[in-house]
Amino acid sequence: MILRAALSALLLAAAPAALPGSATPVAAQAAPFVLDPLPYAETALEPVIDAETMRLHHGAHHRAYVDNLNRAISENPALQQLSLDAMMAEVSKHGKAVRDNGGGHWNHRFFWKLMAPEGQRGAPSPALDRAIVRDFGSMEKMKQAFEAAGRGQFGSGWAWLIVRPDGRLKVTATPNQDNPLMDVVPEAERGTPILGNDVWEHAYYLSYRNRRGEYLSRWWEVVNWGRVNALYAEAVAQARTR
Ligand code: MN
Repeated sequence: MILRAALSALLLAAAPAALPGSATPVAAQAAPFVLDPLPYAETALEPVIDAETMRLHHGAHHRAYVDNLNRAISENPALQQLSLDAMMAEVSKHGKAVRDNGGGHWNHRFFWKLMAPEGQRGAPSPALDRAIVRDFGSMEKMKQAFEAAGRGQFGSGWAWLIVRPDGRLKVTATPNQDNPLMDVVPEAERGTPILGNDVWEHAYYLSYRNRRGEYLSRWWEVVNWGRVNALYAEAVAQARTR
């Protein structure tokens, strides 16, 4: 408890911003990158994700990725011209700080919007549901594969549901802050993410302790399916034009 209180005090001192409803900076697509406020209250995902976890995860962890990314590219004008997506696609050309913190920023911007408060979560669209049944057999089997990918990721990382260049869905996992857009990821695991869950301990440890599997199975309760449906439609449209 002492550690938790100290962490909270540190965070409040360092991060007074990011209250929902406060002036919202436009999401930065290029340098300098900014930490957008959470799109809902810190309590909005309770009881699945507790408010203190959200406060630390967004206000301390995500903030650190943004600050460290800006520092990493501060003396590289060419890199400052790149969008975050473009940076991911050529991340092998840049240093470890760009890979770790650029990935951290991309992944967390993506993650917050994949979740929503009760009443705003929607349901999988018929098109997404059909694709999941086509590629996994059922929604339940996709969820099982996704949870297994999250549980099986040794150490820190992410579980993903991606749209492959041929339009098919696939479940993958990446270590650290890597993601399926990065050119350092094996080709067979690259694609456009439409769902991703953070399996770093900082995402679940205050409530779930070492029970990562329980966090992964409960996380479905807070998924913003409206967002996933839109990401799926966009990714399929892109795949068709390739
Ligand atoms: Mn995280």
